[in-house]
Amino acid sequence: MTTAVSLNHADNLLQLQNVTKAYGRAAKQFIAIRDVNLKLRRGEFVCLVGPSGCGKSTLLRIVTGLNTVTSGAVLYRGLPLHGVNPYATIVFQTFALFPWLTVQKNVEIALKARRVPPAERTARAVKLIDTVGLNGFESAYPRELSGGMRQKVGFARAMAVGPELLCLDEPFSALDVLSAEALRGELMELWLNKSIPIQAILMVTHNIEEAILMADRIVVMGKNPGRIVAEIAITLRHPRHRKDSAFQAMVDRVYTAVAGETKSEKETLGTAPGKPGEKRMLPDVRLEALAGLLERLSEENGRLDLYRMGGELTLELDDLLPIVEAGELLGFLTVQSGDLLLSPPGQAYAEASILARKEIIAGRVLRLPVIAWIYETLLRDDNKRVDRHYFYDKLQDDFGDLTEKLLDIAIRWGRQAELFAYNGDTSELFLES
Ligand code: ADP
Ligand code: MG
Repeated sequence: MTTAVSLNHADNLLQLQNVTKAYGRAAKQFIAIRDVNLKLRRGEFVCLVGPSGCGKSTLLRIVTGLNTVTSGAVLYRGLPLHGVNPYATIVFQTFALFPWLTVQKNVEIALKARRVPPAERTARAVKLIDTVGLNGFESAYPRELSGGMRQKVGFARAMAVGPELLCLDEPFSALDVLSAEALRGELMELWLNKSIPIQAILMVTHNIEEAILMADRIVVMGKNPGRIVAEIAITLRHPRHRKDSAFQAMVDRVYTAVAGETKSEKETLGTAPGKPGEKRMLPDVRLEALAGLLERLSEENGRLDLYRMGGELTLELDDLLPIVEAGELLGFLTVQSGDLLLSPPGQAYAEASILARKEIIAGRVLRLPVIAWIYETLLRDDNKRVDRHYFYDKLQDDFGDLTEKLLDIAIRWGRQAELFAYNGDTSELFLES
């Protein structure tokens, strides 16, 4: 009996049970992730992907014990986690090195924190620096290194503490393409050859190809609220090649899971202060970017693979998805099985003159309850002029920290549609006669 349980635990390094995390409190509470269930077994490399703001970093911080959970449980080796997880290390996008210390001292400092005796520290640091391919740079200072090399020092430092669980938060995204590729390769070699004591890796990335290159399993998250929407096992053999058809098929599958399907209109439009319904953040995009996407779709007879689209426009997922979201919100397009489909209004827009486009956009933007509410408030005012703070205060209860941003986006869209204008000096929104 006991054996069975411990065997089970030995296999399950990490387990999240119904984990929910809310930031802020009471009325201003914001649910970052809701009801997340996730297991990580020994020997597994799992990637988390999903749109910006879906709670990937939050989840990683919970696993490493840097964030507490609002409800639910985090089990590590079968035991509830309290405080910082001593078995996990995290590497961020830009690794903070001490600028006044050499590469070697930067790695040794992690060993010192673990109370490794001085003589042993030096030997281990030198070996680790060699492992990540920085042999010969022991006495260099961070400023003398390229971004890629600095990130390697970050990896060496993370490995110095010999973590069981390595957590990586977009570790390659601040690097140039070649450095990222090189460092990915080195990490995979260390991991696959088992030349590091790490038992499992949990990595956040917004790069779907990177996830498919490296992971055994991809966990796809969605937002509003942040949650897991799909888990996809990647069984392709290593080394994996982007051009293989099996690889490409996997890219399509993951993209489909990430982009989701267009929901019914009622669900997507959001609500306004004082009205019932789900609140909804507006995607932070410029409407010009959406225009480009609609024109491209129109040239392709109204249907295009979302993944190809991103590649063509050389957009990262984090940039492409908000544009698609804006298109859905305004009813210009829908998403189905990883394809973008142009709607009749989208088609009309793509073919319209600049003047006609303004009119179409105005009609579409006014369908959004939050923008209609701003517009109607201005209409009702005697001077057709209302202070920004009025809107801010009303929105604040629902949007908390995001209020400023929401208002900025709403003003930008309202201006572009020529529904209302904004004077930054007096911070007033007004209707132009
Ligand atoms: P991701 O890494 O997927 O982009 P994050 O985990 O950073 O997402 O954030 C998830 C959501 O939680 C976002 O909407 C973000 O604005 C919010 N958030 C993150 N950290 C905090 C915080 N300390 N206080 C309030 N809100 C936060
Ligand atoms: Mg993040």
